[in-house]
Amino acid sequence: MKSDIDIAQEATIKPIAEIAGKLGLDQGDWEPYGHTKAKLSEALMNKLEAKQNGKVILVTSINPTKAGEGKSTVTVGLGQAMEKIGKKAMIALREPSLGPVMGMKGGAAGGGYSQVLPMEDINLHFTGDLHAITTANNALAAMIDNHIHRGNALNIDPRRIEWKRVMDMNDRALRQIVVGLGGPLRGVPREDGFNITVASEIMAIICLATNLNDLKTRISNIIIGYTYDEKPVTAGDLKVEGALTLLLKEAIKPNLVQTTENTPAVIHGGPFANIAHGCNSIMATKTAAKLSDYVVTEAGFGADLGAEKFLDIKSRAGELKTDAVVIVATVRAIKMHGGIDHANLSNENVEVMKDGIENLAKHIETIEAFGLPLVVAINKFPTDTAAEIEYITSWCKSRDIDVALTDVHAKGGEGGIELVSKVVEKADAPSLGLNYIYDLDDTLETKIKKIAQTVYGADDIDLSPKAKRQLSSYEEAGWGKLPVCMAKTQYSLSDDPSLIGRPENFTISIREVRPSIGAGFIVVLTGDILTMPGLPKNPAALNMDVDEDGKVLGLF
Ligand code: ADP
Repeated sequence: MKSDIDIAQEATIKPIAEIAGKLGLDQGDWEPYGHTKAKLSEALMNKLEAKQNGKVILVTSINPTKAGEGKSTVTVGLGQAMEKIGKKAMIALREPSLGPVMGMKGGAAGGGYSQVLPMEDINLHFTGDLHAITTANNALAAMIDNHIHRGNALNIDPRRIEWKRVMDMNDRALRQIVVGLGGPLRGVPREDGFNITVASEIMAIICLATNLNDLKTRISNIIIGYTYDEKPVTAGDLKVEGALTLLLKEAIKPNLVQTTENTPAVIHGGPFANIAHGCNSIMATKTAAKLSDYVVTEAGFGADLGAEKFLDIKSRAGELKTDAVVIVATVRAIKMHGGIDHANLSNENVEVMKDGIENLAKHIETIEAFGLPLVVAINKFPTDTAAEIEYITSWCKSRDIDVALTDVHAKGGEGGIELVSKVVEKADAPSLGLNYIYDLDDTLETKIKKIAQTVYGADDIDLSPKAKRQLSSYEEAGWGKLPVCMAKTQYSLSDDPSLIGRPENFTISIREVRPSIGAGFIVVLTGDILTMPGLPKNPAALNMDVDEDGKVLGLF
């Protein structure tokens, strides 16, 4: 089987001007970044403002294995299939982070014959958005330390600074550090730490902002920490919102690229779904929805994480209507949820799927709780047997759930024809509207409880004394009407990664909450979730190289 990078390098990539032309874009609507990438301008977004959105199709999945279940692949394949049946379609994806690229997962630009191009650039530095976000985040950190060094007029308590430095790499050694060591010329010593860039509030802000002004206002609302008398201090108090917005003025523009079959795709913003809200930017999805009749977009990890936040946070903030949902399921992940370990996922075992499929059942119930029409996409892997595929298909049919076998990894858009016809039928049917899992008027605690019970299937939540204290002080501060952004393991419906399948009789422990007032939500940390991942024993990076001609090797 050819690797993703082999397929990507063999694909015919068109000049980006041709893709812009296909979308009917004028000069001024876009700006080339080399021959095969472009940024979409704010002028274009203003021009499109009054235009009606096309249909929005959200791709989500069951709780994944470590390798991923092919959400990006199915998203790209489904967009390509849309074009194959004559629809005007676009794809909206997140930008990959170097953490997973160099760590466990390899690339995140789709797979096989359903990828976005130029795959190497998209997986590495792309148009520099993640670097700009890292720089803006760290500029704020530098301003905070400088402010304290220069006399601390704002009375910031160095022990209560919440703003962390970031880098776009998994680096567990930086989780907790001490800065300012070395005497008076080197600042004021204090405990600090690094998060991965995709967990930065700046990343969330880029994804939720609607224009440069909104970006600036949101940055100014960031809470960086507290004073000695425990009053919040904002980035606006430090007067840095102008400089930070300046650093982000290009990063806020969505990126235009194309797929292996030259379907237009926007890729913009990349918050992780386990430690952040997990969706590409509102600007990217909206622009794509206005430029096409159908936009296919994804939200990270399972429906318990990305989809819940797509619907409760992103679509509420962006007033985006979702017309249909695709839940990606794989034979492999269902066997894993039945208790089979990773090494044996390729061996046929229909019996264990009877337990494993309960994980899919829960995600279906979640999307039904939102009131949205759905189709289950079985993402076919070469090791799947006919009996295993038949098991999922008949399980769905016996429950009146629409299901389609998809082979977009091996066949590109052609492999998504069955899926696309079912999705279009659902998306075109009259909408019944969306039921959010919680109301913004609910207290923060009620919001968390509703998600835990309705989406995760938990009995209850268990708040640590710290989280309890924080929640009541946030309510007092007037932040109680904000949505909550759950940070939870992606491997289980619960907060314990070892509880596979459909766990029952469990509670979700809430360790701590953090205010992301610029982004406009409260982050809720459950279980042992970390906001700076570590590298595995054999990082994917060890297989990567570049030859003397600059050809990229080993990226997958
Ligand atoms: P997700 O978006 O769910 O994390 P991806 O689409 O990034 O998953 O796919 C994860 C990896 O699995 C990629 O390397 C991709 O090439 C591979 N993959 C996805 N679907 C298939 C498939 N049907 N057959 C073989 N490999 C696949």
